[in-house]
Amino acid sequence: MKRPLLFLDVDGPLNPYAAKPERRPAGYTTLRVPHEISKDYVGISLRRRPLRVWLNPAHGRALLQLDYELCWATTWMGDANRWIAPVLGLPELPFVDFGDALLQERPDGVHWKTGPLVDYAEGRPFAWVDDEQSTLDEAHVAAHHRGPGLLHHVNPRIGLGEDDFQRLAEFSRSLEPPRASS
Ligand SMILES: [Mg+2]
Repeated sequence: MKRPLLFLDVDGPLNPYAAKPERRPAGYTTLRVPHEISKDYVGISLRRRPLRVWLNPAHGRALLQLDYELCWATTWMGDANRWIAPVLGLPELPFVDFGDALLQERPDGVHWKTGPLVDYAEGRPFAWVDDEQSTLDEAHVAAHHRGPGLLHHVNPRIGLGEDDFQRLAEFSRSLEPPRASS
């Protein structure tokens, strides 16, 4: 049986961007990612300040120890493999390509990631770690996803912690078929 998917958001769970800016949380390292040069409306090239990302290298090991197939589910899409994976010690991972749905708010209030994640999973059990799901997403997954799905919310001021890893391990264990007893 295939392992469940773990859809992984970056900003919030791995990068606790909402933590107090003057104090990097313990165990985290700072990554500065340059923005692409962008043109403003008068056509002058501007270079914005690099994006600050906090990452905890211990998260990579903890994620790899889980019984899941990891998959990026983030606005970083393929860039997560370039910038985030090496700091965490993760191999190159598949990612969900959101295409035109990227950052497009839906009139029904369902998160723009939710539909594409359900499509990507094709009924395969998944856990989705993010800081932005709501009860509307729970309802959408319950109605449209054929297999078990865990929407696991992480506080973006704190990021992934021991409790979160325990919950994820518990969910993957719950999917295992019961062993025959003699
Ligand atoms: Mg996020």
